[in-house]
Formats: sequence, structure tokens, C-alpha cells
Amino acid sequence: MLGNTYEGQDCALARALEVIGERWTLLIVRDAFYGVERFNDFRAHLDIPRAVLAERLGGLVDDGVLERQPDPGHAGRHRYRLTPEGQDLWPALHALLVWGGRHRQLNALSFKHAECGSALDDNGACPACKVVPAPQDVLTEPVRRTERQDPVALALRRPHRLLEAISADGEDGETPRL
Ligand SMILES: [Zn+2]
Repeated sequence: MLGNTYEGQDCALARALEVIGERWTLLIVRDAFYGVERFNDFRAHLDIPRAVLAERLGGLVDDGVLERQPDPGHAGRHRYRLTPEGQDLWPALHALLVWGGRHRQLNALSFKHAECGSALDDNGACPACKVVPAPQDVLTEPVRRTERQDPVALALRRPHRLLEAISADGEDGETPRL
């Protein structure tokens, strides 16, 4: 079996990939930026086997990227939120979204500076305000329809601030508008 470390590599990229380089891991981090917090919501949006999701979430908690908290809405369950260290992955994630959109497939969501509504440039900066907004100041907006019908995908059809919780699974969740 292939290990997930690169002991022989004296390189910061190797250290980063030991945290986010496994299959699914960066998509889980992406969903955490979108505001997904609950196991069932990650699962519904990612179509990921339960065991793999549980292992990846546990690994991200162990690595300090996510923190696990009791879910006030569901006794015995947890919610997962990005730590400050995890939120530091936003520029890298945004850069990969830009690359994928340019060379592979246009992203379904665009990213705007919440304060002024300007689209972020390829470096994640607001060209109007000349700042690089923190993720909580970034607004996502759909630019095309997706076929996905899961509760997270439906919630993301409306403008949505990064890191703002999506309560697709909770009874206190809003009904997504189509
Ligand atoms: Zn702006």
C-alpha cells in the first residue's frame, strides 16, 4: 500500500501534500469553505463512501485543519469547522479553482468581494478595492446550473458567503429556493 508521507522530500510542498494530498481531502476542505459542517451534508454533496469520509475528516482534525465540535442540533453528532490554519488554505484552493476553470471546466460558482460585489481576480484580490478579501468576505454566486440536486448544491444556488454555515441537514435549516 502506498503511504501518504514523503519522508525523503525536504520540501514544504511535501509537508502540505501530507495534509491535503489524499483523494477527496481537498474537496472536503472546499466544502468546509462553502459552509458544510455536518457529516451527512459532506456525504450528500460528495457522494463519498462513509468510511472514507470518516477517515478523511478524522485526519483533517488530527492535522489541525478542521475542528470537531458537538452539534447543538443533533445530540451525539458533530460539526466540523475550518481552524485558522485551515482557513489559510483559501488562497491555494482559489488558485486551483482558477487553474481548473481555465484549463479543464468552468467552475459552477464565481467568487466576489462581498463588500462591493466585484469579481475576484485570478489572484483572489478585489480589483476595485485593491484588497485580498479573507474567505468570510467572499461571496459565491452560481454562474451556471449544475445537475446536482443534493441539499448543499441547492443551497449554493443562492449567493452565499464562504464559511457561513449551510444547515442543509438540520431541522433549523432553511428550505432551499430553486
Ligand atoms: Zn471590493
